[in-house]
Amino acid sequence: MQNKMSGNSLGVYLHIPFCIKKCNYCDFCSLANSGTELMREYSRELARRIREFSAVYGKQAVDTVYFGGGTPTLLPYSCFEEIFFALKDSFFIADDSEITVEGNPASIDAKGLAELRSLGANRLSIGLQSANDNELDMLGRVHSFYDFCSTYEDARRVGFDNISVDLMYGLPSQTKDKLEYSLEKLIELSPEHVSVYGLKIEEGTHFYRERDFLDLPDDDTCAEFYELCCERLFGSGYRRYEISNFSLEGRESRHNLKYWRLDDYIGFGVAAYSCFQGERFGNSRNIKGFLEGRDICEYRQKISDNDRVSEYVMLGLRLEKGIALEDYYRISGQDFFEAYPAVKDFISKGFMTFEEGRVAFSTKGFLVSNIILSEILFFED
Ligand code: SF4
Repeated sequence: MQNKMSGNSLGVYLHIPFCIKKCNYCDFCSLANSGTELMREYSRELARRIREFSAVYGKQAVDTVYFGGGTPTLLPYSCFEEIFFALKDSFFIADDSEITVEGNPASIDAKGLAELRSLGANRLSIGLQSANDNELDMLGRVHSFYDFCSTYEDARRVGFDNISVDLMYGLPSQTKDKLEYSLEKLIELSPEHVSVYGLKIEEGTHFYRERDFLDLPDDDTCAEFYELCCERLFGSGYRRYEISNFSLEGRESRHNLKYWRLDDYIGFGVAAYSCFQGERFGNSRNIKGFLEGRDICEYRQKISDNDRVSEYVMLGLRLEKGIALEDYYRISGQDFFEAYPAVKDFISKGFMTFEEGRVAFSTKGFLVSNIILSEILFFED
């Protein structure tokens, strides 16, 4: 890859909307069992749109690439090859870029993983969700814990030394023991990065239709589960750098940090979002329109100075380090405590901290961060 870097390199997101089957809780944009021909067509169009972008905006410097989905690891090698060629032709991709591919166990073998490495992928994000096979079944996942371990070991064997694993808590009928077991099994494998998400029942999913029959843990139990995850991960050397994301030293997701730090990124494909040159824009889920080469952008919005300041507060507070009041003043020209008077109250009640010029959530505050954020913004002058 070419080595031309600037301090403001772009992140590139590519949405790959294909899965083996739809999980019971999933409302992401993905098609189940759609066949290889559609994947080829989609990848061709993705490559064309990447080249079209660089024809309009010039060859930009990039330092993170993220294949998300869906299940990107379902794509055949030739599709990845086509997309990687388009990326390398269209962007200056730094030698030390973070190139992540999301994937699921049972969707790729050792040969496929080795091929991905040879194309330049250097980070793998694998959906585990639970180490209990009965929970995986209930979630509608297509793999067992054994399948996960095989994929994980294959990935290590072919040279992936940066692996992220997703885990879910707050599952129907989940007990503390079951979650402890999943955490123990995950920690034994020592992935560099762990994302921990609470189950949300989203409209349009199988779980949504069945919601009256699901034995879901209440909010207090979910809070205890989150605290258990934090406790076990902290005790094993992981640092929480964002509300749902934990990593070993220096292994934070550089791509995701761009979202939280309001850096520029450009998304290609259906349901992909961008923040680029002072605008936010997002694509619809219209796969047919995408394949026909139509403009599928469904919203486009200039980011006003006020939006930028509120987003800085909302996204910055998701990070463990929170926000530096000095930076806030530089961006907004205002004193933070004057703009958000409710924060002092949350600090005195232990939901937030103020140390070394930074305001951040405490663990107790992270558990109710959405409520606190809406109160803070409500009190904004
Ligand atoms: S594998 Fe991921 S994207 Fe696909 S259906 Fe399951 S949760 Fe959704």
